[in-house]
Amino acid sequence: MDAVSEVLVVGAGPTGLMLAGDLARAGVGCTVLERRTEESNLTRAFAVHARTLELLDARGLADDLVATGARVGALRLFGKLEVDLSRLPTRFPYVLVTPQYHTERVLEEHASALGAEIVRGAEVVDVRRDTDSVELDVRYEDGTLATRRAMYAIGTDGLGSTVRQCLALPFPGHSAVQSVMLADVQLSEAPEEVLTVDATGEGFSFLAPFGDGWYRVIAWDRRRQLPDDAPIELDEIRDITQRVLGTDYGMHDPRWMSRFHSDERQLPNYRVGRVFLAGDAAHVHSPAGGQGMNAGLQDAANLGWKLAAAVHGWAPDGLLDSYQTERYLIGRAVVRGSGVLLRLALAQSPATRAARWVLANVVGRFGSPPALVSRAISGLGIAYAAPRGAHRLAGRRAPDVRLATRKAGKTRLYEIVRGGNFVLLTPAGVGAAIVRRWTGRVDPATPADATLPMVLVRPDGYVAWVTNETAPASRDATLRTALTCWCGQPTDGM
Ligand SMILES: Cc1cc2nc3c(=O)[nH]c(=O)nc-3n(C[C@H](O)[C@H](O)[C@H](O)COP(=O)(O)OP(=O)(O)OC[C@H]3O[C@@H](n4cnc5c(N)ncnc54)[C@H](O)[C@@H]3O)c2cc1C
Repeated sequence: MDAVSEVLVVGAGPTGLMLAGDLARAGVGCTVLERRTEESNLTRAFAVHARTLELLDARGLADDLVATGARVGALRLFGKLEVDLSRLPTRFPYVLVTPQYHTERVLEEHASALGAEIVRGAEVVDVRRDTDSVELDVRYEDGTLATRRAMYAIGTDGLGSTVRQCLALPFPGHSAVQSVMLADVQLSEAPEEVLTVDATGEGFSFLAPFGDGWYRVIAWDRRRQLPDDAPIELDEIRDITQRVLGTDYGMHDPRWMSRFHSDERQLPNYRVGRVFLAGDAAHVHSPAGGQGMNAGLQDAANLGWKLAAAVHGWAPDGLLDSYQTERYLIGRAVVRGSGVLLRLALAQSPATRAARWVLANVVGRFGSPPALVSRAISGLGIAYAAPRGAHRLAGRRAPDVRLATRKAGKTRLYEIVRGGNFVLLTPAGVGAAIVRRWTGRVDPATPADATLPMVLVRPDGYVAWVTNETAPASRDATLRTALTCWCGQPTDGM
């Protein structure tokens, strides 16, 4: 048997790499097992949404990634219907269009630099669990088999998850769309927009740039519904693109083409004892809305700090289970939202076609959909349930507030969150003696806006707790209770 790890992560896709970075940042011994021997230059995701960029910012990675892509301030869905992102209250009021391999590279470099071990050519073939540990059978590139043991294991091994299958977990759902064609092509004529997309009753076509002269086209033709393994011709893609977009932009010289079908599925339980599932291993849906990778990265951000707390032995009761309660509901909303977009795009029934027409021609012509839609697509609207009686901000995303004083060169909340700890936003000195008792888990910071209430921000950037209490004795008492509830017993043991 190989060495025992604290955490084994199965799969070095975006979800696994993000998780590995967060665990390593928290000082947890973490190994990622990846069956591919090399990084892939094939890509699926192109859209990185605002909330994901904020999460990357809270790890010091957003600026690097933004430099690799193009910013798009309005997301066109179909017809004239556009979702305006340019007025979102964030440093990133746009969707970043960049191939998935850039996101993976940035995450992998970060995780490795923090000490996570990434082992390629290591395929997990079996999973066993008991009350104290998890065992994974791993087949290495040279054919040898070994068993690795860990305190916890996470399946971030994508749609066909071996971890999920080995544990015989159900993955209920259905097929959403068949015979979607993908190709990487050259264009004779560059499209005017960064993202070009439209859908009619006949089908849809979507074009996105890799940034190096190549374009990804995703197309679907209602008249050509074939199995995934049916041969594919560029002419099929050109034909539907011409019919939907009015031109095929002189598509030529494909370097890669594929046909696939897309499912809508969700795992009912993201946790089974010491095994967790995240990303596509836990939920899948069509590419409509560009949400899958974003949801996986957010799963990882939610789970990483909770798992670290459990490994370090201070996780309060229920913290690990809150990964399921929080992320299952978000996953369900993402699967449903993407399904609604897909069905509107593929509209066939008279009622859905009428709804599509109204959205494309009436809402699209006279304005953009309500802010609720841009907040949902960008992920800024994600919020977790708060206990009854909690402050109205509890569970919501903490905005990147300015700080009153530079703290080690940091001027914004998200720069402090990079430490991986809870952050207590509090007027200078207030609560300092109490917070010291949770040193290493909570960092105090003073917001520039002196009218803000005292706020405890979770390591994943969501609001844990808020108080408007100003009377010192009761404020201190409620702060102590909140810190114990969220951050475990004080580190000084008193
Ligand atoms: C056409 C298309 C377009 C898309 N566009 C977008 C978009 O614009 N925005 C967006 O957010 N999402 C998009 N998605 C979805 C997105 O690509 C996925 O949601 C994302 O890749 C999921 O990441 P993951 O890390 O969970 O899984 P994956 O990326 O699938 O990674 C899983 C990893 O696990 C490894 N693995 C599998 N089995 C084993 C094993 N037994 N042992 C060891 N390793 C294993 C695999 O080799 C792989 O590296 C799109 C998807 C498609 C199909």
